[in-house]
Amino acid sequence: MIDFRSDTFTKPTEAMLQAMYDAEVGDDVFEEDPTVNKLQLMLAEMFGMEAGLFCASGTMTNQIAIKCHTQPGDEVICDKLSHVYIYEGGGIAFNSGCQVKPVNGNLGRIKASQVREAVNPIDIHKANSKLVSLENTANRGGGSCYEMRDIQEIKQVCLEYNLMLHLDGARLFNALIAKNETPKEYGAIFNSISICLSKGLGAPVGSVLLGTKDFIKKARRVRKVFGGGMRQAGYLAAAGIYALENNIERLALDHRHAQQIVAALSEKDFIGNMYPVETNIIIFEVKGKYSAQSLTGKLKENNILVMAISATQIRMVLHLDVTEEMVKETISVITGL
Ligand SMILES: *Cc1c(COP(=O)(O)O)cnc(C)c1O
Repeated sequence: MIDFRSDTFTKPTEAMLQAMYDAEVGDDVFEEDPTVNKLQLMLAEMFGMEAGLFCASGTMTNQIAIKCHTQPGDEVICDKLSHVYIYEGGGIAFNSGCQVKPVNGNLGRIKASQVREAVNPIDIHKANSKLVSLENTANRGGGSCYEMRDIQEIKQVCLEYNLMLHLDGARLFNALIAKNETPKEYGAIFNSISICLSKGLGAPVGSVLLGTKDFIKKARRVRKVFGGGMRQAGYLAAAGIYALENNIERLALDHRHAQQIVAALSEKDFIGNMYPVETNIIIFEVKGKYSAQSLTGKLKENNILVMAISATQIRMVLHLDVTEEMVKETISVITGL
């Protein structure tokens, strides 16, 4: 099977498993796991931020960040398609007692002017605007990337209104590769950043939250409250270290593969609107002789797995378990449909 359903389906390679097997571990709740400490420090230094915290998932790092930045009754400003808003089980309300002001962005990206409009005046009738959360790349925007200038303008609005700025960087490394940007540019702007190791980077589990020392101290406490304090987590962190050392540059290959598949899809009359493909995610509409469901079934008969994300849309995600041969095979199947 060639699996394009998500970049979360990657399995650890033998070399990654060996790195996990060889990991030196301790009790991380006591902050005594050397491998977890190494991973946290490695990412913090890479982004020029003070500290990091290894967590079980990207949902957990996002939710901890939101909890640490807010008080119950505050309002979080984010794009209406944000993962923190639509895919985290209502966690902003459940965990932080906050409400969301969803903004109608462009393919998952919002503008400084929209943030300015979304900020509430200081008024007892209104929720306290407290946090802006951006997503880069934007998953439901088809892996779209922010322009650095737009992020800088949003930061100015945040400074003006005393808002915290969080980045859901589940696929930030895809954006860095696509836009030729550096982690430090991001570290200098955001109050907190969440990085997933289990997406395109290919680790089996884990995300890291980055911020100031004080913020991470608070986050460590919240992680414990959320039941996320892990013990010999170094076995998992070792996979993350391996991923950072070996799997960042190769994301460019996933992006090239995505473009090759886009070219093949564009030839077919049953493919409707396609989001601009900037990174490793392809989202397109199906029309004519297929529905999203029937095309998904047809591809499955040819050993190709894709995901129908609505009645008319399909998503395909490139990742390190999709080889060049598999891309060629996929293109020949698409061409024959
Ligand atoms: C995958 C993802 C997350 C984290 O999801 P988990 O399944 O909790 O690891 C967060 N944000 C975005 C945009 C994602 O795609």
